[in-house]
Amino acid sequence: MEPMLTVEEARARVLAHVQPLGTEAVPLTAALGRVTAQDVVALENLPPFANSAMDGYALRAADTDGASEAAPLRLRLAGEVPAGRVYAGEVGMGEAIRILTGAPTPAGTDAVIQQELVTVADGLVTLTAPVAPTTNVREAGGDARIGRTLVRGGVELGPAEIALLAALGAHPVAVTRRPRVAIVTTGDELAPLGAPLRPGQIHESNTVYLQAAILRAGGDPWPLGIVGDRLEDLEAALNRAQEADLILTSGGVSVGDYDLVKQVLTRDGDMAFWRVRMRPGKPVAFGMFGQTPLLGLPGNPVSAAVTFELFGRPAIRRMLGAAQVERPQIEVVYAGEGIPLGDRTHFVRARLTTHGATLVAHTTGAQDSHLISSLQGATALLVVPEGEGSVNDGDHVPALLLNDALPWGAW
Ligand code: AMP
Ligand code: MG
Repeated sequence: MEPMLTVEEARARVLAHVQPLGTEAVPLTAALGRVTAQDVVALENLPPFANSAMDGYALRAADTDGASEAAPLRLRLAGEVPAGRVYAGEVGMGEAIRILTGAPTPAGTDAVIQQELVTVADGLVTLTAPVAPTTNVREAGGDARIGRTLVRGGVELGPAEIALLAALGAHPVAVTRRPRVAIVTTGDELAPLGAPLRPGQIHESNTVYLQAAILRAGGDPWPLGIVGDRLEDLEAALNRAQEADLILTSGGVSVGDYDLVKQVLTRDGDMAFWRVRMRPGKPVAFGMFGQTPLLGLPGNPVSAAVTFELFGRPAIRRMLGAAQVERPQIEVVYAGEGIPLGDRTHFVRARLTTHGATLVAHTTGAQDSHLISSLQGATALLVVPEGEGSVNDGDHVPALLLNDALPWGAW
């Protein structure tokens, strides 16, 4: 029998079976969270033309040499240019043009003096100090020049990237297609959302968990409902699920479930592994079901969540073409009762707080794999290694950062 894989070995096998999906163009209004399919290069300058940063007067800087309180300079007010218009003529020596913020600086001018610094009367603009060239002029291409890479490929678009692309007219934008992820939930004891419980039943929660987690990861969840603990039922559901880019199953991987997923993968598929040296979640299976990768998650809600996090999410991120598929790992200081080490890597749900410049981790409470409450509020998974001894209060521990809202990333 094959030795049990480590998490890293198992994840490498999963990632070896998935590739980035094809490309599609989406409007910027629908681009939030999508991953760029390739580098996006500026085809225009931003700003597209030199324009005024102030409400004031456009002029020729050279005209203002020597202007002072003692020797004020008077320029002839020759016209006006508001934002959205172009001044038709060329501005001559000794002339100034009324200009508003964002309006193109007229031909012949190279500076703008703000209106508070001049007096205007009888068609003359009076100033009492020289104005240096380029003062209050926003240069064409000063924000982004033609040919510059605006956003690299493999980057998840946020509001700032979307604004930059919009300002450069880069709409629609080429992104990688979102993987469609089928969810097949097994268990005779499970009542679907909203159904009253019959004796011995429990409310099903893994499907909704996975729907939410898949969405967060950037995937497109496709729940196929609950199937009973029978091989034929599971096979029928998986045959439908084959159209997906990735299949997730819940339950049916433990001995008590007759290893249904393992049986299907052995009989109709190609199994890459079915156990991993981790806690929670030892019975986790992966293989190809026909052409479709299938990740068999354990039924225990915490095990399902942690194995999705460690194998499902990276697979989805790889399909999305994301440059970074794994969570950032940092070192934190553990605070709490000793955690004994064991023969499998233990992923402990923890809440991070700051203490000065230090990140401190407290567990979310009891860590049994049926306690959904242990997932709640977790911002990290502490990676407690295999071995002897224990992790004690004050020890440094590696931690995977879970909170999507925290500004931690790799670029
Ligand atoms: P299994 O892996 O199917 O043997 O399930 C292990 C434990 O998780 C059992 O207590 C199941 O009742 C529970 N469980 C399995 N699937 C789900 C689910 N979809 N939602 C909530 N609990 C589940
Ligand atoms: Mg079950």
